[in-house]
Amino acid sequence: MIDFRSDTVTKPTASMLEAMMQAKVGDDVFGEDPSINELEMLSADMFGMEAALFCPSGTMTNQIAIKCHTQPGDEVICDESSHIYQYEGGGIAFNSGSSVKLLLGDRGRITAPMVQQVINPDDVHRARTRLVSLENTSNRGGGSCYEFDEILAIEKVCRENGLIFHLDGARLFNALVAKNQDAKEYGKTFDSISICLSKSLGCPVGSLLLGTNDMIKKARRYRKVFGGGMRQAGFLAAAGIYALQKHISRLYIDHDNARQIAAALQKKSFIKQVLPVETNIIIFELDDSISAADLVSKMKQAGIFGYAIALNRVRLVTHLDITPEMVKKTIEVIEQL
Ligand SMILES: *Cc1c(COP(=O)(O)O)cnc(C)c1O
Repeated sequence: MIDFRSDTVTKPTASMLEAMMQAKVGDDVFGEDPSINELEMLSADMFGMEAALFCPSGTMTNQIAIKCHTQPGDEVICDESSHIYQYEGGGIAFNSGSSVKLLLGDRGRITAPMVQQVINPDDVHRARTRLVSLENTSNRGGGSCYEFDEILAIEKVCRENGLIFHLDGARLFNALVAKNQDAKEYGKTFDSISICLSKSLGCPVGSLLLGTNDMIKKARRYRKVFGGGMRQAGFLAAAGIYALQKHISRLYIDHDNARQIAAALQKKSFIKQVLPVETNIIIFELDDSISAADLVSKMKQAGIFGYAIALNRVRLVTHLDITPEMVKKTIEVIEQL
C-alpha cells in the first residue's frame, strides 16, 4: 500500500528512533524534562518568540491558544474551511464558549478587507470580536500558502482594532520552504503560532504552541486542565528536536512529488480540476461519472491509499515515507485509471 491519506501516517526513521533512545528525560509537569525544555527553547528561538509549550496534538495547541486569547461570548474570525472550526470537535464553543465568524476565502486564505468587514462594532447586541486565526498552509485549501504581504495587511487590521492574531501552522514549514519565507518574520507578526511535528516533519507525536512568556505561562495551566500535562515525554521531544534539525530542508522533495502526481491527474478526463499544488497536498475534483468514494476504492485496489474529503473531492498528501519508486508506481496507476 502506498499511503497518501495524510502526512500523519509516517513512521519514525531509524535515526529519529536512535535520537529518541538517547533522550534525557524527567518529569515535565515539574518542568524537569531536559529534552522538552530544549525543544521548547529551540522552537521559540527559530521563530524569535519568547516561549513555547510542547503538547500532544495540534488540536490541543490551537484550542489552548484560543482559550488563552478569548473570554466566553467573544468571537473568532477565520476561514470557513479552517481546521479550528471544521475538525476540532466544536472545540471553540466547547472549550472557550466563543462564537465564530466564518469567511469564504480563496482556498482557505482570507484577506485584510474581508477581516475588516466583519469586525463587530462595540455594541451590547454584538459578540466582542477578539481573535483572527489564519491557517498556513491551508489543509482544505489543498496546501495553499499565504503571500507574506497579505499576512502583514491582516496583522495591520488586527493591531488597529485591538484583535489578537493566531496562526494555525500545522504545516507552516511547508509554506516556509515553498515560499522561501522566514520563520522569524512569522514570529514578529503573530501573537501565537501552533506548529505540528507529527505532520510533514515525521514525528510520531507532538505539537508546539509559541507565544510570549505571559501567554505560555497561561497556556501551561490550560494544558494541565485539558489533561495534556505529560511526564517523561522527552522521548517524544527528542524526535521533535531531530525533526526540526533534519526534516525541514527536505520538504521540497514532498512538494516536487506532489507536483508530479498532480500532473498525471491533470490528464484524466474524469477529473474536473486539480487544485493548484503549492506544497504537499493534492486535492482534485471529479466530474459526475464517478464519486470520490468509488474512485478511492478503485485506487485502493491498485495499492494507492487516498482520502475522500467530499462527495466529489479526493485528497492525496505526500510525505517523508513516499519514495521515488512509489511516486513512479502511483503515476503508472493513475495512467491506467
Ligand atoms: C492536523 C492539523 C491540525 C492538528 O491536528 P492534530 O491531529 O490534533 O495534531 C491543526 N490544523 C491543521 C490545519 C491540521 O491539518
